[in-house]
Amino acid sequence: MRDLGVRYQQRVGTIMWNTTRHLEAWYGIAGLGAVCHTINPRLHGKDIIFMADHAEDQVIIFDLTFLKLVESLAPKLSGVKAFILATDRQHMPQETSIPNLLCYEELLNRQRRNQPFHWAVRDETAACGMCYTSGTTGQPKGVMYTHRSNWIAATTLLSPDGASLSASSQLLLIVPMFHANGWCLPYACTAAGAGLVLPGPSLDGASVYDLLERQKCTITAAVPTVWLALLQHLQDHDVRLSTLKISVIGGSAAPLSMIKAIQDDYGIEVRHLWGMTETSPIATYNTPKGRMLPMSAEEDMSFRLKQGWPHFCNDLRVVDEEGHELPRNGQAQGALQIRGHNIVQQYHKLAEGGADANGWFDTGDIATLDAWGYMQITDRSKDVIKSGGEWISSVIVENTAVASPEVFEAAVIGIPHKKWVERPLLIVVAAAGQSPTQDSILRFLKGKIATWWMPDEVVFLKELPHTASGKISKLDLRKQLESKQIQ
Ligand code: ADP
Repeated sequence: MRDLGVRYQQRVGTIMWNTTRHLEAWYGIAGLGAVCHTINPRLHGKDIIFMADHAEDQVIIFDLTFLKLVESLAPKLSGVKAFILATDRQHMPQETSIPNLLCYEELLNRQRRNQPFHWAVRDETAACGMCYTSGTTGQPKGVMYTHRSNWIAATTLLSPDGASLSASSQLLLIVPMFHANGWCLPYACTAAGAGLVLPGPSLDGASVYDLLERQKCTITAAVPTVWLALLQHLQDHDVRLSTLKISVIGGSAAPLSMIKAIQDDYGIEVRHLWGMTETSPIATYNTPKGRMLPMSAEEDMSFRLKQGWPHFCNDLRVVDEEGHELPRNGQAQGALQIRGHNIVQQYHKLAEGGADANGWFDTGDIATLDAWGYMQITDRSKDVIKSGGEWISSVIVENTAVASPEVFEAAVIGIPHKKWVERPLLIVVAAAGQSPTQDSILRFLKGKIATWWMPDEVVFLKELPHTASGKISKLDLRKQLESKQIQ
């Protein structure tokens, strides 16, 4: 990197799956005192160009799978001095439109022969990683992680109320390293001395099951969508996970039916967590506090649905539209704000956004906090459905619908309505072998959610659009169902 002209604090982009080479690059770049800018390859080309330009990436390292993608982007990435293909000489393409494409293993071998490398970080507040928000809420915004913020975030993963990572853990890192700082797990596993299993691109139920078993994984980290496929695989093949003890789930709300299936049917402990690119990213974990135990079945049920409490390094609060703090009673919902040393203070090269003068960062999520300090997300502010002036929680309606055996996946969006301004529309993907109808779905929901939260219409789709990080893309769903208007 140095020979290629990468200087202290400059950015190096990676377009890579979770692989050993990505991990090497991630640490090598940070060790040089440069910044590893992980780029999400599933984003639109124009977003990738925007990010690489805005971050002023000096070099881009990419996997062979992304050769075509990088070939199409390279002419527009005039600031990039060199492209490195993460492979050995044998797998380098015969022909490519990328000028002077370099071979990762060749560069590394040359370096190995030359001189030993000394860790070049002078300051713990220097940046070492960078991610852009996915742009689902406007222009992508760059978040810098420092050596210090990563260390703070990693300590929570090591703690018993975090991911309990230790030298005896073997973690399958399903969450991509290019998304939200890889949930900080590449740092935490290394710090703990835990085994780290890197799955590459195959994240379907069968492949994930196979890796978990073959590599005797004790813990894994993934978004709920991955678990949907994995549970389906376990059920279809009547198999169990023989070594997995902990499943860390976050990125979008894990439905109770999923948490129950993982915990009760398969004996794997679920650690439901919440966070975002701007929070390093994990900011709350849902583990019980001793003083709350024992819990009644009802208390246990409502507890499991929460996203948890912040660890020593973060404060949370929920505020109303005027910025007044709301009571911690588990009922009052408002804008969720967070403060701490691992929380973004300012976006890269952007004056607006970031934390306020008192360090509070507005997350864009709507949530409640209860007397024990547990937070529960009810919506993202841009997904909130306001019907007759009152909020309907799309998250709760979705998770209730998903508990139906007829439903594989569900999403709720607000649809314009003459009288109520907005009403909920439920979109359902049927479970394998099931043919639900609007009536059967509404019958299932009846009594489980408030009457006025009942969707006015149920639409059936073969599949739902997902974002680059595996979450349901409500933006695309809204576009797809634009013509809908409930009278
Ligand atoms: P994006 O989703 O835009 O790609 P992030 O990964 O930063 O970017 O997403 C963070 C958002 O994901 C949070 O603001 C929140 O809305 C949602 N989220 C994360 N974890 C959870 C969870 N456990 N329950 C509900 N929502 C969650």
